[in-house]
Amino acid sequence: MPKELRKILIIEDSELQRKVISRWITKNGYTAIEADSISVAREKILNEPIDVVLLDWELPDGNGIELISDILSTSPVGWLPIIMVTGHTEPEYFKLAIEAGATDYISKPAKEIELLARIFSALRIKSLHDQLRETAIRDVMTNLYNRRYMEERIEQEFQRCKRHNSLLSLAMIDLDKFKSINDTYGHEIGDQVIKQLAHALKTSFRKSDIISRFGGEEFVILFPETSIADAARILDRVRENVSKIEMKSDSDQIFHFTFSGGVAGGNLSDFNSNQELLKIADKNLYEAKSSGRNQIVS
Ligand SMILES: [Mg+2]
Repeated sequence: MPKELRKILIIEDSELQRKVISRWITKNGYTAIEADSISVAREKILNEPIDVVLLDWELPDGNGIELISDILSTSPVGWLPIIMVTGHTEPEYFKLAIEAGATDYISKPAKEIELLARIFSALRIKSLHDQLRETAIRDVMTNLYNRRYMEERIEQEFQRCKRHNSLLSLAMIDLDKFKSINDTYGHEIGDQVIKQLAHALKTSFRKSDIISRFGGEEFVILFPETSIADAARILDRVRENVSKIEMKSDSDQIFHFTFSGGVAGGNLSDFNSNQELLKIADKNLYEAKSSGRNQIVS
């Protein structure tokens, strides 16, 4: 990511100190975002993708250290490095800050060169952290989300949509006769079919839809704020397009593949748990399979 897109949030109530740090950060090519209180900082963290937080200890509406666990649990970008910048120089304070979840600690008055070195180091940790996270939540073959991540997301979205009384639909799809594709054309071609389907899914849905490879030839898609009829309609269009994709075997033989899908959800008031959502989608998928495949049941 280019340096100027890196956002450093400065939480500091002294205007003089805030402006000095902000100038250093901007001069060195980063983007500075300023907050003079805990409440303003909370708002910035929710609305801007922050990369590093510089956190003062004493703030007008509370203690900076109390904000740390808050930042770590609510930040929409996941984990964030937090550097405490404070006048407390006693080692006990250093220990407290690190135990509370701060990544680093600088005593006031901060020096430009030291601050920049600490920011550089924090950004390096963040980038490793982001890479690890990406590896942990992605399926290697298709780069779609994996099952572990999807199960978490389904639970989160279920709670969120239920709380706000908004719609949520879920689709479970499965390649038709995948075993016979593997047996006829070989596993390498079978893998290509899975990649091809993953590509079709990635390019067919809206940005807000969440797509995962749930099992070998099974995929789950979440459609937030979407009725069951709309989800089924979108999925059926994808089903039709996919059935037209031409695949080539090793002996240049052209063949096609299809999938079946089950959709569940919509209004969540009839659902007690996210497990139920999956169960009904699975039941509908089974029905789509047993009544002839290459169709969507909702
Ligand atoms: Mg202060």
